[in-house]
Amino acid sequence: MSLPHPLGAHFSVAGGLENALFKARDLNCDAVQIFTKNARTWKEPELNQTRISAFKAARKETGISWVFSHCTYLINIASNDGDKLEKSRNSLASEMERSGLLGLDGVVLHPGAHLGEGMEKGLDTARKSINRVLAIDRGLFPELLIETTAGTGTSIGSRFEEIGTLINSLDRPEAVGVCMDTSHIFAGGYDLRSLKALDETLLAFNEHIGLSRLKLIHLNDSKPGLGSKKDRHQHIGKGQIGDSGFSAIMQDKRLHSIPKILETPKDDNGTPMDQVNLNRLKKLAQG
Ligand SMILES: [Zn+2]
Ligand SMILES: [Zn+2]
Repeated sequence: MSLPHPLGAHFSVAGGLENALFKARDLNCDAVQIFTKNARTWKEPELNQTRISAFKAARKETGISWVFSHCTYLINIASNDGDKLEKSRNSLASEMERSGLLGLDGVVLHPGAHLGEGMEKGLDTARKSINRVLAIDRGLFPELLIETTAGTGTSIGSRFEEIGTLINSLDRPEAVGVCMDTSHIFAGGYDLRSLKALDETLLAFNEHIGLSRLKLIHLNDSKPGLGSKKDRHQHIGKGQIGDSGFSAIMQDKRLHSIPKILETPKDDNGTPMDQVNLNRLKKLAQG
């Protein structure tokens, strides 16, 4: 059964990448996000043909329409440390290659942190990083999706202007899209709590980035308040964005066909929460 919205969650790949797809099917999802590697280490796993074939067979069997990967959090493509920058660029290139071999639809990347060098310098380093990685693509790489951030510390990407500037400065802007995380942009100061607030936020997104570049939405409620610059995800409707915000998002025609992925906590006192959050979103979509 296909859902009115391509809807899903980030699922674990414990026991094999394809397990995320089976888990998604069990929850009637049509979109999935995975880590293709251990997100806490720099180690890059090699994908052999057996693993690729198993994943592709599971994709076919489950019929999941959208599969995205999220880069390791260690990557900082705007770093002022030469060694870290090199590692980050190599890791991003490996992620793009692995995700390409798996036939994924996009790779989500945080635009990095300038670590005190200033936004302009940070954006320039990020630009060079992305240019360098995309230059080695031989037609295999999925779309690179820059994720909006909460603006914690010196991180880039909590203002739509920053992401728009970065993408427009690239050698291959057409190879890059955007993932909008609701909890991040709310923490960054963009309100979503009513139809009017959402409309203003989407107008700003369109002005600085372009809505045609919006390829994925991370649906997370936010524990901290509007403009807090703190990144703490909460269950749908249980945070500061609340049911009113998610009902506006789920009912906005401009966002209807865009895949939406939950990155909310998995467990609440033993209750498996993905199903609860998915059900809540489906209910809010109906008004
Ligand atoms: Zn992210
Ligand atoms: Zn996110």
